[in-house]
Amino acid sequence: MGNVSEPNGADAPISMPLGTDHAEIREAVQRVCRDFPGEYWRGLEEREEYPTDFVAALTENGFLSALIPEEYGGLGLPLRAAAVILEEIHAAGCNAAACHAQMYIMGTLLRHGSEAQKNAYLPGIASGELRLQAFGVTEPTTGSDTTQLRTRAVRDGDGYVVNGQKVWTSRAFQSDLMLLLARTTPLDQVTKRTEGLSTFLVDMREARGNGLEIRPLKAMINHNTTEVYFDNLRIPASALIGEEGKGFRYVLDGMNAERLLIASECIGDARWFTETSTRYANERTVFGRPIGQNQGVQFPIARAYAETRAADLLVRQGCALFDAGQPCGEAANMAKMLASEASWHAAEACLQTHGGFGFAREYDVERKWREARLYQVAPISTNLVLAHIAQHVLGMPRSY
Ligand SMILES: Cc1cc2nc3c(=O)[nH]c(=O)nc-3n(C[C@H](O)[C@H](O)[C@H](O)COP(=O)(O)OP(=O)(O)OC[C@H]3O[C@@H](n4cnc5c(N)ncnc54)[C@H](O)[C@@H]3O)c2cc1C
Repeated sequence: MGNVSEPNGADAPISMPLGTDHAEIREAVQRVCRDFPGEYWRGLEEREEYPTDFVAALTENGFLSALIPEEYGGLGLPLRAAAVILEEIHAAGCNAAACHAQMYIMGTLLRHGSEAQKNAYLPGIASGELRLQAFGVTEPTTGSDTTQLRTRAVRDGDGYVVNGQKVWTSRAFQSDLMLLLARTTPLDQVTKRTEGLSTFLVDMREARGNGLEIRPLKAMINHNTTEVYFDNLRIPASALIGEEGKGFRYVLDGMNAERLLIASECIGDARWFTETSTRYANERTVFGRPIGQNQGVQFPIARAYAETRAADLLVRQGCALFDAGQPCGEAANMAKMLASEASWHAAEACLQTHGGFGFAREYDVERKWREARLYQVAPISTNLVLAHIAQHVLGMPRSY
């Protein structure tokens, strides 16, 4: 394993590991994933079920508590270790959506929650007793324009009353807690549109049927996603995380971690696609020779591999900056964009390499292909990443 030092525009140079870093973690994740082959994921999709057994196995091995400090019962690992966990899950053909959500949503509680909130929730989340896997940001009418969101939380005596609607809230049915972003001060009463939004930790066990309604949202992939309706839902004031009105900043704080974790999943997916297509290209014989002998078959696979390796370097750089406490927005955004594109190109090459069999469910290629497409749209679409780079990195005017 080598080290690369990068000048990063911030304080000191930092180093990042190359090669198989966190080898023990990688091996441990691979061991767990071996019990959850393609058949398991296909069955879940047919029944539209949540991966309960898989999440339980990851929890038992401590992987879901990777980023929770040891004092609250977690492993207290750096972001890079969490990224490695997710990468390996995806490289094994599994899906880590339930896990990544817990990892990055929990960050808001960890960084901005009170000691009482952390003591109340983090040990339960670390042990798997409590699930914090639902993140209510996106709304049907305002989409990527988050500061315009319409869900309101109005202070009323010793609590807040919430009204509004969220869409694409993944795992709301399976999670005990939801991190909710809602407007507490109307837009016309704030000087900056990023102000007046607040984050709340909503206990959905108490809320369902008492002002909170969840409806399933059927989608292209088995992501257990939902629509959530708030109709005069009362939540205690103690559900507020940090200071009222600062929620947008808290959520933004967690987004670099989220982007790096998602990018790692894309690297894992790309590894799975490349391995799967290479194996098939070497085995499948047509016109008396392996199809992989044709440049038309091997070049797209080779190109996607090269793109994946390049994106992986950015993921590693972003994690190294994050773990060193240095600004990592540029690297995190670029890593997410390039990794999602690399994994999509690897997915396309894999499907094409498999010909008609790429469409056969039992090969898992079409399932992974559908899943890989998500990451150019969520949690943030490519255009919005490009807008960030153009404005915040290159200094061009804001385009939206
Ligand atoms: C399976 C799935 C799971 C999800 N899970 C969650 C979740 O758990 N919690 C949650 O809060 N959200 C979740 N989302 C929502 C996701 O984050 C959003 O779909 C995503 O941020 C894009 O927002 P939108 O769908 O409203 O698209 P829009 O904002 O309507 O954008 C539509 C298209 O227009 C483009 N566009 C919009 N504005 C501009 C502009 N100014 N310049 C250039 N292009 C622009 C976008 O890039 C995009 O391609 C999930 C989505 C999916 C599909």
